[in-house]
Amino acid sequence: MKKKSTKEKILDALEDKKKISINPPPRDGKCEVCGKNVKDLKPFGKEGDPLVGNFDGALLVKTYRDFAGWISASWECRDCIILNDKDYLKKVK
Ligand SMILES: [Zn+2]
Repeated sequence: MKKKSTKEKILDALEDKKKISINPPPRDGKCEVCGKNVKDLKPFGKEGDPLVGNFDGALLVKTYRDFAGWISASWECRDCIILNDKDYLKKVK
């Protein structure tokens, strides 16, 4: 069985999330990885965005990461959501 890459897993998780209703991120919240305030973030777009799925206009998207069975859920900006696990761990506050 082919092992899924981190990106594939994230895309799967995003695919799942489209089917369920998720809570909106805190309005005055921050990216839980880089700590940038939503005021300073660029919204997710459609065309050319690294993400599959329609997050147009969203500032933070809830992302699930699996670290050897430990599931981490965090609100992440478009710069952080594409990080691999190693870069994520380096950057996370
Ligand atoms: Zn971020």
